[in-house]
Formats: sequence, structure tokens, C-alpha cells
Amino acid sequence: MVLQVLFMRHPDFYAATGLHIAYFAFRSYISYILTVPARNRPIIGHSPKVAMTTEKAPLSTALWRGLRRQCPACGEASAFRGYLKIADTCPNCHTPLGLYPCDDGPAYITMLLVGHLVVGPLFALEFFWKYPLGVVISVTLGALVVMTLALLPFIKGGFLALLWHHGLKRSRQPH
Ligand SMILES: [Zn+2]
Repeated sequence: MVLQVLFMRHPDFYAATGLHIAYFAFRSYISYILTVPARNRPIIGHSPKVAMTTEKAPLSTALWRGLRRQCPACGEASAFRGYLKIADTCPNCHTPLGLYPCDDGPAYITMLLVGHLVVGPLFALEFFWKYPLGVVISVTLGALVVMTLALLPFIKGGFLALLWHHGLKRSRQPH
């Protein structure tokens, strides 16, 4: 991030870096979606009782539920049991939410979003060109930290919904 702030003084360099980050994030996501289910197919998502009574929500519904930190399967209960900790199972529909390996995904997406939401508008602000680099860096880093911590839980919910919808889960709870 410090590097990125320095890059901002050289827009071409920054643009190239941003494009690379976006490209690699997109490529990792696609290869993850394509390869993980192939070699590690889940043993089927829900218990028979639930599967008979509920239809799987479409991606848009699941994502919207996830971004509001709700269970992507039913939308009736919170998928979290803390700031960032995902519940082992949904208290309402018993979907094993803890099996979906969010790992670093939400952090990547949050950094990508926050980096561009803060860094892009900075160019338009007089503050960025007028003040000493030290001031610009500390204020920018502060804004990045606050925005990252504010966005991360919601992005994580959305990412959980994405994994749930694609059926990408571990075969058992990690310990
Ligand atoms: Zn649920």
C-alpha cells in the first residue's frame, strides 16, 4: 500500500500496477472456480430434509443476502458469529457455513476495491498535490485502514455467498 501511494505520483505506473492487480485477482478467481470443484467435489450441500423443502437461491439472491451478512442459503439468520467469524452452521437452515473456505479471498477483493475507491479520487483532490508526501501518505493510509475494516465483513459475506452458490466447500471442518 505504501508503494501504491508512491505510484500515485506517477499515474502511468499506477495504472499499469492497478491493471495487473485486477488481472491477477480475476484470473485467480476464475481458476479457483474452475479447478477446485473438479478435484474436490463436495459431498452435496444440504441435508436431505432441507434439500426437499428449499430450492437453491439464485446467485443474485445469495449475493445480496451475503453482502448483508446473512446466510446465503435461507437469508433468515446471520451467517456470522462475530466481526469476521463465520458461524459453523446456520441456526435457521443448518447449512454448514463454516465449511466454505473464504481464506484470503475477501481480503483481496476488499483491498482491490478500497485501493481504487481511495486512490482514484485522490487525483482530483488538491490536497494530494499540495501537501508534503509524508502527510499525504499518513492520511491516505488512515483512510485505507478505516475503509478496509469497514468493508471487509460485508465483502466476506458476499464471498461466502459466492462459494456457497458454486458449492466450493471443504469436506470437513478445519481444526
Ligand atoms: Zn440459513
